[in-house]
Amino acid sequence: MKLEVDKAQRYAKMRAHTAVHILNALISQIFPDTRQEWSLVDEDLGRLDFSAPRNLTLEELKNIETTANQIIYQARPVIKKEMNIQEAKKLGAKAFFQEKYWEIVRVVIIPDEGKQNQIFSAELCWWTHVDNTREIGAFKIISYESIASGIKRITIHTGPKVGKTAQDLESFLLRVQQLLEVNSIAHIEAKLQKTLQQLQEAQDKIQSLATMILKELAKQAHPSKIEEVHGYIILPQPLQNHLNFKQIVSLLKGEFLEKEKTIILLTPQGQFAIIGWSTDAAKLGKKLGLKGWGNQYLFQGKDPKILEMV
Ligand SMILES: [Zn+2]
Repeated sequence: MKLEVDKAQRYAKMRAHTAVHILNALISQIFPDTRQEWSLVDEDLGRLDFSAPRNLTLEELKNIETTANQIIYQARPVIKKEMNIQEAKKLGAKAFFQEKYWEIVRVVIIPDEGKQNQIFSAELCWWTHVDNTREIGAFKIISYESIASGIKRITIHTGPKVGKTAQDLESFLLRVQQLLEVNSIAHIEAKLQKTLQQLQEAQDKIQSLATMILKELAKQAHPSKIEEVHGYIILPQPLQNHLNFKQIVSLLKGEFLEKEKTIILLTPQGQFAIIGWSTDAAKLGKKLGLKGWGNQYLFQGKDPKILEMV
């Protein structure tokens, strides 16, 4: 029993590894100077890190997947041949990792379709491979990412794992369908668009309510101890929960630049904005020794000192 499990696991790794050979050859067609940096193989899982002068497009990735699956269905032989290194070089066999190779090497060849003497892929490799590409079963790219400058990584599934990936994806979509309360996966997109639109409308509503509240607060601003300032407003927590400080400042700035008054907006944590019209806000901030940045209309920062000053 144990032996059979081992055999199944080993075969699953062979499928993934042979698929990485195919992937490598397809990448070389796009980037002739690419170098394989690293590859990792597990059961029906393969990963290839390679150098690339630019990003692959979504279309190129789809083409790689389609072509790899075609090569699988075409049931091409995977030929292993021992030969001396000069012969291998003549074949154009790729020697990866810049390793030092022995005089006699093993070349793994996948021919072009219907042309036994034309080579699609030739690599020096001592690992184990399936004998025919159809044994790989299926090929699916599950991720593509940049892992370092000029180095990309593609991860693939092969064999029965491809069906499992599709099932997982379907389960995920079904969970999304339930969350969105629609009765079919096909309705997810429309419901999501509608939900996003409602969210935007709700945000617009919050913004207009916030403007009303700010106007009201501004009317009743606390009188300030600072001579040049007409009043200060302490920002209530509910407003801070729904809008960030920057948004609130911009709403209030719209209010006060018309009114020719100078006002300070602040949070109990010492975040502040001096909104100046009658006074140069930046000059006042510096005069008060507050830590911040800005211009004559708006000077802002975070300095708890402001809480005692106002
Ligand atoms: Zn190999």
